[in-house]
Amino acid sequence: MDITDIIDENKKLKEKIKELTQEIKKGEVRKKIIQDTNAMLDRSLYELSVINKINNLLSKTLDYDEIIHEIMVILSTMIEYTAIGILIKNEGVFLLKINLASPKAKGYILEFKKKALAKFRAIVGGVPENKVVVSVENQNMIIDDEEHAVIGCLKESPLVAGDKTIGLLVVANIKMFSQDEIRLINIVAENSAIAIENSLLHRKIEELAITDGLTGLYNHRYFKEALHKEIKRSERYNLVFSLIMFDIDDFKSINDRFGHPKGDCVLIGISQVIKNIFQREIDVGARYGGEEFIILLPQTTKENAYLVSKKMLSAIRNNAWKLAGHPEIVTVSIGISSYPQDGQNEEALIEAADSALYNAKKTGKNKVVVFNKSN
Ligand code: GH3
Ligand code: MG
Ligand code: MG
Repeated sequence: MDITDIIDENKKLKEKIKELTQEIKKGEVRKKIIQDTNAMLDRSLYELSVINKINNLLSKTLDYDEIIHEIMVILSTMIEYTAIGILIKNEGVFLLKINLASPKAKGYILEFKKKALAKFRAIVGGVPENKVVVSVENQNMIIDDEEHAVIGCLKESPLVAGDKTIGLLVVANIKMFSQDEIRLINIVAENSAIAIENSLLHRKIEELAITDGLTGLYNHRYFKEALHKEIKRSERYNLVFSLIMFDIDDFKSINDRFGHPKGDCVLIGISQVIKNIFQREIDVGARYGGEEFIILLPQTTKENAYLVSKKMLSAIRNNAWKLAGHPEIVTVSIGISSYPQDGQNEEALIEAADSALYNAKKTGKNKVVVFNKSN
């Protein structure tokens, strides 16, 4: 073997090495492709399991608050965050529910609200500040602190049901969200919107079923249920409560003189007075019949029911009803009964209030009469 043979041999070996290197590279490329495909498959499977989880949880309930809570729980287990907000537009009101991951100052909530509204405005236009109701799920996380008001990074995803943007999912964190986190936020938003919209419809239907169409007060049916429950509650805890029943004086004459639609305006106006005077959440103001109203006042003595009835009597009388261009006085007659002294069941209590009301009518109208067994 001479030097040329060695050179030849060397060349061949170099070629071989080159070929082998290329083969190895091809193998590595294949390995990388397989790894990437597996990662994508893993991600798709994970995302599918997330969608499945959302659908399962959200199909368990039709309650709006529960649905919002569940969405926050799902998201909080998947991504790093400081606050999650769900902003929903419902009947002209904007409901913003916030969940905090760690204690935050009041200033943080205000800043979060401001930013979330700005994002929503950018999509749907005007959001009046006075129509926004903010609530924090975990109130105990709000602290008195001047600091901790910096929001950091924000990622939002619209909640779209059909062709309607019903709200916005907003998530905040101190650091930037990763691409995977952004995908998850979008997936959660995309798969929650319909459930949220359904719960709002369900709430609306439930409200309609217990509301009087003309006045917006509770209807007769709801009142009867509330009274039944109040008797059970008062029996159990040894409580008192009162019923205020009233009827418009000479209402027939108002209809006759000004027409039925003007009569309806009086009914609406009176219900507004009821809503203004009885502002406790627990009070139940209902339209009992045509021009008869009834108010259930839990944990209220007869004396206090009398005082508030006098207030209502003058509030209604002092209203200037402009029924035909000039002010018209409308008055009511009121009867009061109380549990347990005037009756221990629904019928007896209503009968007692009705009998006191009848007495108010009989003795001159425009007055309050409290039931007592001798009248
Ligand atoms: P009183 O002082 O004794 O209560 O006299 P009144 O005229 O109010 O009593 P009456 O029972 O004779 O008439 C009640 C009237 O209320 C008759 C009815 O047409 C009217 N009314 C009942 N429901 C409605 C309603 O939804 N809208 C209007 N506009 N009127 C109603
Ligand atoms: Mg009547
Ligand atoms: Mg009447």
